[in-house]
Amino acid sequence: MPPSAPPYSLPPVVVWFRDDQRLADNPALEYAIATGHPVVCVYVHDPAPQNTRPPGAAGRWWLHESLHALNATLIALGGELTVLHGSESQTIEAFAVAIGAIKVCWNRRYSASQRETDIAIKTALKERGIAVFTFNGHLLREPWTVATRDGRPFQVFGAYWRAARHEYSPEAPRPGPQRIDFFPVPENVAVAARVKNLSALALQPRTPDWAGGLRETWQCGEQAGWTQLDDFLANALTRYASGRDVPAMQATSRLSPYLRFGNLSARQVWHAVLSAARAAHHCGNGRSASTASSSVDKFLDELGWREFSYYLLYHCAPLHQVNFKRQFDTMPWRADATDLRAWQRGRTGYPLVDAGMRELWHTGWMHNRVRMVTASFLVKHLLIDWREGETWFWDTLVDADDASNPANWQWVAGSGADAAPYFRIFNPVLQGQKFDPQGAYVRRWVPELARLPNGCVHAPWLAQPAQLALASVRLGQDYPLPVVPHQQARERALKAMGRVTSTSF
Ligand SMILES: Cc1cc2nc3c(=O)[nH]c(=O)nc-3n(C[C@H](O)[C@H](O)[C@H](O)COP(=O)(O)OP(=O)(O)OC[C@H]3O[C@@H](n4cnc5c(N)ncnc54)[C@H](O)[C@@H]3O)c2cc1C
Repeated sequence: MPPSAPPYSLPPVVVWFRDDQRLADNPALEYAIATGHPVVCVYVHDPAPQNTRPPGAAGRWWLHESLHALNATLIALGGELTVLHGSESQTIEAFAVAIGAIKVCWNRRYSASQRETDIAIKTALKERGIAVFTFNGHLLREPWTVATRDGRPFQVFGAYWRAARHEYSPEAPRPGPQRIDFFPVPENVAVAARVKNLSALALQPRTPDWAGGLRETWQCGEQAGWTQLDDFLANALTRYASGRDVPAMQATSRLSPYLRFGNLSARQVWHAVLSAARAAHHCGNGRSASTASSSVDKFLDELGWREFSYYLLYHCAPLHQVNFKRQFDTMPWRADATDLRAWQRGRTGYPLVDAGMRELWHTGWMHNRVRMVTASFLVKHLLIDWREGETWFWDTLVDADDASNPANWQWVAGSGADAAPYFRIFNPVLQGQKFDPQGAYVRRWVPELARLPNGCVHAPWLAQPAQLALASVRLGQDYPLPVVPHQQARERALKAMGRVTSTSF
């Protein structure tokens, strides 16, 4: 024990928080408390990670808020979050040694580079005589526990999810601790690495402060996650199946950033949804019970897509860099900075695409249906490499994670596991007319088109001059003309993708 440590009879156990920023259903924390040793809660901010992908700008904003909330919860229990600054591999080891820790616990991460880092840290700690205990806090099932009959990873979602759910029910989530016996970290320990104030990590934008829309849209952290979940269960779950594709409706859970940062666990969400469904079944009539049940099945399948994304992350080459289907390596992508910029800024001239990109820019989130349309537009209409889009989403989404983001981009591009067929090219006008028939979503995010009639709000270039004049829209000035005509873009994409795929499938 270092000379300045208080006279604790038992050495401390360190809980290293990463993508599990909550107290309830946190197996690493629960284990640490159960040891009966005093506990130190730590977060390590690595400003320049060697192996892992640093969060994008919107993710950093959420991270700051989430750490702030976690710290507040720990303070309410009489402790605090010790925030350290430095390379993960050196900092956690040096800190554990400095406070005389006997054990370090964490919940697992799944990319190859994260696993490599964790294994190296575990080895180094063990060499120092410090035991390491790791847990599953992030997923319903660990990726290596689901395999084909001959022991290989599944390649398609349907077969994977059937196998993952077969005779398996996720463990019940564990309640949060009532009290924690905290180890007071002596002032003079790890002084160089310790950060007194979260602002010192500079996770939030300053000049300019572009996060106003994020602050308006989100409350972050564990408590806020429960409020969001309860609201979804009470007001939207039963219409999830019918409403989830309508971007103007609040019919999806908007839980993705809470799951990304572990403010909620997948187990908690899974069980909360099933309990709500059971309660609805007992109270409701037959019809509403069966509507609720199809919504519940659909929602649980979406959690399955999250699991499958992590499954791919675990089993495949870096998902955000490498085509799952390697024949896409020869795809003749266009490098067109002007078109890329028009897409990023929501100025393609296709209202549904532009609405989605502006929603993303303002709120750090985009509705799933519109993510598919905007991603398809970049990859197929503009023929720009999906990695450009993935990188933009990585930087601007509050829920960006290194499993779901690249897995979905590859799914849209056609290069992914179980991907959408390359010849499926969403027509952004028809998608708008089908899923936003009154134009409410477009009007909200592209206000310059708000006064156009429903018939042409998704295709303003088809409006009569009188309709445009009445709506005060000058095409090409107030709102752009399409960057590329749909039919021409479709033919170009089919030709390019046909060349890549014709020999391969
Ligand atoms: C191009 C593209 C990029 C995407 N990038 C991300 C990302 O970085 N992070 C992310 O969490 N999701 C991503 N998704 C998936 C999906 O769009 C979001 O999970 C969803 O829109 C989040 O909203 P929600 O919480 O209301 O979802 P709900 O419909 O309420 O679904 C509940 C939960 O299931 C999970 N989920 C739902 N759909 C998917 C899916 N297709 N793949 C994986 N998990 C899913 C999410 O955790 C979500 O919170 C992406 C989709 C596309 C098409």
